[in-house]
Amino acid sequence: MSIDPAAHLATKVIHAGQRPDPVTGAVMPPISVSSTYAQESPGVHKGFEYSRSHNPTRYALERMVAHLEGTGISEEYDPSCGGFAFASGLASIATCLELMDAGSHMVAMDDLYGGTNRLFSRVRARSQSLKITYADLTDEAKLRGAMTPVTRMVWVETPTNPNLKLADLSMIARVAKSISPECILVCDNTFASPIFQRPLEHGFDVVMHSSTKYLNGHSDVVGGLLASKDPAVVAQLRFLQNAIGSVMGPFDSYMTLRGIKTLDVRMQRHASSAMKIASWLESHDAVERVVYPGLASHPQHALAKRQMDGFGGMITLYLKGGVEEARRMLENVRIFALAESLGGVESLIEHPAIMTHASLSPDTRKMLGISDTMIRLSIGIEDPADLIADLERGLAAAHPAKKAGTPAAV
Ligand SMILES: *Cc1c(COP(=O)(O)O)cnc(C)c1O
Repeated sequence: MSIDPAAHLATKVIHAGQRPDPVTGAVMPPISVSSTYAQESPGVHKGFEYSRSHNPTRYALERMVAHLEGTGISEEYDPSCGGFAFASGLASIATCLELMDAGSHMVAMDDLYGGTNRLFSRVRARSQSLKITYADLTDEAKLRGAMTPVTRMVWVETPTNPNLKLADLSMIARVAKSISPECILVCDNTFASPIFQRPLEHGFDVVMHSSTKYLNGHSDVVGGLLASKDPAVVAQLRFLQNAIGSVMGPFDSYMTLRGIKTLDVRMQRHASSAMKIASWLESHDAVERVVYPGLASHPQHALAKRQMDGFGGMITLYLKGGVEEARRMLENVRIFALAESLGGVESLIEHPAIMTHASLSPDTRKMLGISDTMIRLSIGIEDPADLIADLERGLAAAHPAKKAGTPAAV
């Protein structure tokens, strides 16, 4: 490892996994586009044969995520220290599922990113005969009820989307391994980022990211990452990444590495602005309820404080009124872009029932609490006072008679 594992994350995001180019001294890894590499004699080469299998720009990004998540895997054991980059978040999930044999049993959180749920239920249940039990893994009894001694994988997201429910990672690791010692525990860490939560420290085996979101952070690359601390899993993922081939390209790897340089400063700003905005929304007459893990009113605020180093940039709110009021709010904001996705420098607003979660059946939406007045905010890094003024414009259009909130004095 080129960086002291004890270095702070704000230092690691700049330096981890990178070293000046030996030929020119270039500080940033060059974008290495060659698909193949010349050999001195058959089989004699510098560790690079073909770019699907080995690419120096992708390796630099992969080592970066490995260091941020704390895999503890040495470069001697694995060239990218147990980090792996893919063409999208879903490509990384699809490769991770290949760790299991056909017909395996897995347990998954009931409140999952829609695309993850679609891949599990509508693709792999058919093509890999996976037997999937969905359960509310915030509840230890439900986890115990779902696990069997031969469960091969547990898939968790925390905080979830759009309910911002939290799963207790240490509890899940302890309980799941006590029932099925061989099962692989995977956490989709997209919402928290490694700055605020590191699942490997809680006993998980694999961390997954849609780097499309906070890690790249600029809404201009689609990508996915895996990182594992288990040497056997790392060896299998190295084989599977090359065998399946859904790798991230060198240009996207470079862009993501560049985005990660500011991950720490971005996450601090996302979280401090989200905290101000969430408290302000909570005091607003037009708002029924605000869900943000940093608010004392969040049912798992204590767990959030214990498990996370910050509460993130996502806020869910329930507006008073009905779908008409929600529509007026969404149509009257100007800084917040009405768009799906999250985790970029720009603030986004969206309506889960009509937009991101429209593919769920009305019954499932009801079960998950996704109502017509639920609105999801991805807080960007603009000035928070401008964001509050923009939301006030939207809320005033939705409910002209209601009183504005008081800006939090933080
Ligand atoms: C976006 C997202 C994914 C899927 O990633 P893509 O990069 O869009 O393929 C998976 N999980 C979560 C939590 C996400 O937000």
